[in-house]
Amino acid sequence: MKTYDVIVVGSGSGGEIVDAAVSHGKTVAWVDKGPLGGTCLNVGCIPSKILIHPADRIMEILEAKKLGITAEIKDIDFQAIMQRVQPPIQESHTAMEHGISHAENLDYYKDVGHFIEDYTLQVSGKEIKGEKIFLGSGARPLIPPIKGLDSVSYLTNENVFTLTEKPKSMVIIGGGYIAVEFAHFFSAVGTKVTMFQRGSRLIPNAEPEITELLKKQLEKRMQIYLNTEVLEIQKQGPTVTVKGKDGVSGKDITASAEQIFVAAGRKSNADLLKVENTGVHTDAQGYIQANEYLETSKENIWAFGDAIGKAMFKHVANEEAAVAWRNAFHEKKTKMDYQTIPYAVFTYPEIAAVGMTEAEAKNHHEILVGTARYADVAKGDAMMEYDGFAKAIVDKQTGKILGFHIIGPYAPMLIQEVINGMALGGNIAFISHGMHIHPALPELILRTLGNLHEV
Ligand code: NDP
Repeated sequence: MKTYDVIVVGSGSGGEIVDAAVSHGKTVAWVDKGPLGGTCLNVGCIPSKILIHPADRIMEILEAKKLGITAEIKDIDFQAIMQRVQPPIQESHTAMEHGISHAENLDYYKDVGHFIEDYTLQVSGKEIKGEKIFLGSGARPLIPPIKGLDSVSYLTNENVFTLTEKPKSMVIIGGGYIAVEFAHFFSAVGTKVTMFQRGSRLIPNAEPEITELLKKQLEKRMQIYLNTEVLEIQKQGPTVTVKGKDGVSGKDITASAEQIFVAAGRKSNADLLKVENTGVHTDAQGYIQANEYLETSKENIWAFGDAIGKAMFKHVANEEAAVAWRNAFHEKKTKMDYQTIPYAVFTYPEIAAVGMTEAEAKNHHEILVGTARYADVAKGDAMMEYDGFAKAIVDKQTGKILGFHIIGPYAPMLIQEVINGMALGGNIAFISHGMHIHPALPELILRTLGNLHEV
């Protein structure tokens, strides 16, 4: 059996740990079935944004009329859009493979590994043991137990990027991040989209007013059924019929489409890794339990990223991996800060947020709330952006920003100023002391904070 200073499972944010370990002269085993780069690079953030960029441009052209521009889209070359996906991913694979082949003391095991006993994995018929082990084994699509689903073919984020023909129609099961991003893409390229969401809101963890506006805007382009769980699927010739039940009215809801896209949540890969064989505990949903130091229940084993299911974003996974590394090799332990997690949803309109919602903040703080519309600042008005808005939630006593939420153009860029301010201490002065360019959109942030009032 070969032994290593460090074993890393997963080649997403696990790559950060491998880099650090190799550059510190450790012997390293890297286990991942491939392709290298994990969910974000291969079937997540990177390819989906390549698709969503043209979808955004399509929407801008369609909406140009309000600015006095008559524009017509003559053709949308679906194949050309899909063909842009793979080259940047292949380039990253080549760079990573080059790195692996030139690294000293690094063995890459391209297979699914699993624990067979304490600190020992079996992979590709070999047994390997690690002194310190890092689990960044990720997650996969959760396939709900819907009657008939296993007898039809369906799309998920894992196979959608290989589509070569635009589906004429599609039913999306779910109403979370993946659902609303792909709903935007497919409807922009001309697919007739129907969405079934079990809960009462799209993106349930977002600020309610934000999800309300998102629904209103998406509904102009597609059929959305909220409170509707999909219960059964039947193949009928070239189409598939999806049957759901409206949990509020009790009505049966049926839709037929050429394709089904399942975006009903995620499932940790910890089961494939059989972490129980090394004494690592999982929670009721199967996610690896890790504390704020990213320590698992077993000494010298850390876990991070989607595998622990706390905040499933690439930027969070990278930060968690860095914290896990520091805690593994430094005396002074660092805590992962989950209070100010930012996120963006690349649907249309775009959404971005950081920190608490109003409802969460009210549980622990006396708060002030401020809102402003894009159109309240000169640039937003010039853009004729009359729907988008921002909302700030601030602690009344300290002036500390507790949460900030934006829906509208460039929301993921606009929020960064607030993220940085919050990271430095979070008082509104961190934002308002800096001069803001007039007339530019970041004035929306100032205006929102200028409108604070008691609730
Ligand atoms: P989510 O958990 O966000 O949403 C899935 C939704 O599907 C839930 O609201 C769930 O309802 C609903 N659902 C489950 N089963 C059914 C059913 N039978 N019928 C109807 N609705 C159903 O999962 P996603 O798959 O969208 O996203 C996965 C993760 O990926 C997210 O956590 C996100 O962090 C990450 N991601 C991030 C992106 C970004 O940063 N921009 C983009 C894409 C993904 P209920 O709530 O009742 O369970």
